[in-house]
Amino acid sequence: MAKGKKSKAKEGKKPHKNKPTSKKYTKYKIVDGKIIREKFCPRCGPGVFLMNATGRLYCGKCHYSEFETKK
Ligand SMILES: [Zn+2]
Repeated sequence: MAKGKKSKAKEGKKPHKNKPTSKKYTKYKIVDGKIIREKFCPRCGPGVFLMNATGRLYCGKCHYSEFETKK
C-alpha cells in the first residue's frame, strides 16, 4: 500500500500541531450596521473579554467574575 510516502520524523523533533486560532472575532457581531461586542473585563480593560458562563461572566485573565443581573 503506502510505501515510504512520509519520511520518518527525526528524533527530538516534535510533530507540529496547529494552534487553535483566536476566536476573538466571535465576540463581535454586526447587527444593522452596528458592532455589538461582548463585555470587556473592568479590571483588565478593553481587549479582554469576559467569558459567558451560565448566568455569569468570567475573566480568564484575572479570574474576575460578574453575575448577570436579570431584569
Ligand atoms: Zn480580567
